Amino acid sequence: MKDLLTIQDLFKQYNKNSDPVLKGISLTVKEGEVVVVIGPSGCGKSTLLRCINGLEPVQNGSISLDTQVLTDKTTDWQSIRQKIGMVFQSYDLFPHMTVLDNILLGPLKVQKRKKQDIIPEAEALLTRVGLLDKKDSYPRELSGGQKQRVAIVRALMMKPEIMLFDEVTAALDPEMVREVLDVIMELAKGGMTMMIVTHEMQFAKAVADRILFMDHGEIVESGDPESFFTNPQTERAKQFLNIFSYESTQ
Ligand code: ADP
Repeated sequence: MKDLLTIQDLFKQYNKNSDPVLKGISLTVKEGEVVVVIGPSGCGKSTLLRCINGLEPVQNGSISLDTQVLTDKTTDWQSIRQKIGMVFQSYDLFPHMTVLDNILLGPLKVQKRKKQDIIPEAEALLTRVGLLDKKDSYPRELSGGQKQRVAIVRALMMKPEIMLFDEVTAALDPEMVREVLDVIMELAKGGMTMMIVTHEMQFAKAVADRILFMDHGEIVESGDPESFFTNPQTERAKQFLNIFSYESTQ
């Protein structure tokens, strides 16, 4: 499979006088690959995803999607963002619009597609995430897990080439985590290229083709999930995983 996303020597600093948050990140994501990024809070995972989506400027290095260099000054972010779907911890659905109208908005306004053409796609995706019966509901009538599944459909409606998931279950009640992770797992099986930031270690192990372990703005380890979880190479990764094994025995 070809490389879809290529990042080279990326540096990101929020303030001139502060330490860089990303310190020379290089990675590639192949078409159809699922890369899960894990690491301690504050190590730069979310910043990395936000840089890929152009939500944060970078100071050095390059990001390319297929043959397009995103770190050029001339980048047309409106067109690139249609190729990079992103789902955040907060769903940010429009409260005054139904589920269907929320997910039709991007294709209608940004891609200028016709409503009658996209309704079947919207309904098919809602069926896939088990929410067709909620298409005329308003966000306030949905649970957190349902809202997050709608947010995933909203991103998929743009037919992205890659999906970025930033801690999408972190704000959910435990009983709703599973239904959202199941949707992401199903997308992975369908061949969607994805970068996922998560603290759900069992899920990371199950869904990932490759794990990237970050600490202090650097990629410290990169490997297949089985080797990473059973035999981490660095002290930093061992310490990080120990915290989770402690939590799971409580
Ligand atoms: P993670 O996702 O791994 O928890 P983040 O990317 O959110 O880490 O944060 C990495 C570092 O950057 C942290 O030290 C955080 O405080 C800092 N940071 C994140 N967002 C901003 C911002 N908008 N302005 C200044 N510093 C920020």
